[in-house]
Order: sequence, then C-alpha cells, then structure tokens
Amino acid sequence: MRTKIVVGNWKMNLTRAETKSLLSSFLPLISDVNNVQVGVCTGFVSLTTVADQLSGTNVGLGAQNVFWKESGAFTGFVSPAMLKDAGVTYVLVGHSETRGRFGKLEVPATTVGFFAETDETVNLKIKALLPHGFTPILCVGENLAEREAGNTDSVIQSQLDGALADLSNDDIAKLVVAYEPVWAIGTGQTCDTPEAERVCGMIRAHLRTKVADVAEGIQIQYGGSVKASNAADLFSQPNIDGGLVGGASLMAEEFAAIVKAAG
Ligand code: PEP
Repeated sequence: MRTKIVVGNWKMNLTRAETKSLLSSFLPLISDVNNVQVGVCTGFVSLTTVADQLSGTNVGLGAQNVFWKESGAFTGFVSPAMLKDAGVTYVLVGHSETRGRFGKLEVPATTVGFFAETDETVNLKIKALLPHGFTPILCVGENLAEREAGNTDSVIQSQLDGALADLSNDDIAKLVVAYEPVWAIGTGQTCDTPEAERVCGMIRAHLRTKVADVAEGIQIQYGGSVKASNAADLFSQPNIDGGLVGGASLMAEEFAAIVKAAG
C-alpha cells in the first residue's frame, strides 16, 4: 500500500512574510493528518525561513529546482549541498515550467528559451540529488499539441527513459513521479479522472518494464489544476498516489482540503 503524497508548488509567489502568514493558517488545519506525506516547495530565498516554521511539523520542505554541480562558477544557480544545508527534503525536477513548456504563457515562447531544462539535465539533477538523500519529484507530461497528435504516451515514456538513464533500481525506488499534462497547468483545465488514471497507470506499466521489482512502490502524483473539488475523485484512483498542486496550494483552506482528500 503506497502512502499518498501531496506537495504544494508555490512557484514564483510569496515573500517570506507571506509564506509565514500562509503557513500559520495552513499548518493548524492539517496538524492531525498523519497518513499523508505533505510538502511545500518554496522559492530559494524563502527556504530557510520556511524550514524554521516547518520544524517539528508533519510538512516537509521542498525546492523547485537545483543545479547538478556541487559548487563552482555557475552564477545564479543553487547546488544540492546548498539545498541540504537549508533543510530541504523534496526537489522538483523536470517541471514543465523549468523545461520551458507552459500551459499558459503571457510572453512569446521564444523569450523563455533559457529555461531549457532537457531530459539529459533532468537526469544529471536526479543523479546529483540522490547521494544527498533528497526525494526528487520527477515531473513528466505532454503539451496540447503532443496530446492532439496522439503522442501522449510516447512523449512521457521518452521523458521517463531520459530522466532515469543509468539509475539503479534502488535509486529509481527513491523517486516520486508527477504526471503533469502541460495543458492543465495553471489553466484551470483538469485532466479528467479516467484519463489521469489511465496515464498514471501507463507510467507505472512503463516503470515496470524498467524496474519490475520496485515499480509497484513508486508514488505517482497527478498535477494540473488540482482543487479541493476534484482532489478526492483523483486521489481515489488506484494509480494516483496524491497530487502536485500549484495555484490551489497558495490558499490555506483550499490546500488543507486537498491534503485531507488524500487522507
Ligand atoms: C504545478 O505547478 O505543478 C501545477 C500543477 O500547477 P496548477 O495546480 O496551478 O495547475
């Protein structure tokens, strides 16, 4: 039986004071939830403030990105050792937004070319994170054009193959995978439950072909406009082990209701 896992991705939102206020409202609402793993991924500058506030609670600290080198001349980037020092447990890798793939984008796509995370760099990041004991949350998912062309499964399988290249079974067992259809992220458009379950089941079947002995234990989240109103339905599916939650995790009561829906 896999434990459900619900993680909030606050993206580029909230000052330190705002994170404090959100957590002051959120933490008491879920303090009695002990059968769900919960995490929040905050921006780099808030990590240590949030770590202090989460200390002694049932919520783990997450980061939204990492660089794969331990140190060096990489201006503007943050290493695994720095995240460890800040008290981080979960690290998002391959989020569609760090891959430069947006469900909703208010600037021309060419201007976000520098995001450009690839399957290869996702793989390097996972390899850099595991020796430190982090739980990487590997995000995969198709965009609208890929879905409409009938390529959903092949796109995701290729993202999985790239991200997991050269990892041992024991390493793969330490990952959480998040299925995040790009067209559903931040758009209010949720993937309907039967299709979300089908894709999460396909992900598990693909993992089974690679690592048969650990595939059943890997937690697979759904992410993409998860709300309190659709969470229970999504999380009741056999292959959906919780959610990666963006917009709704910025509202204490809404996020707490989503966590409780997993319990
Ligand atoms: C996300 O950022 O991973 C996400 C799923 O966002 P939202 O819930 O806002 O669609």
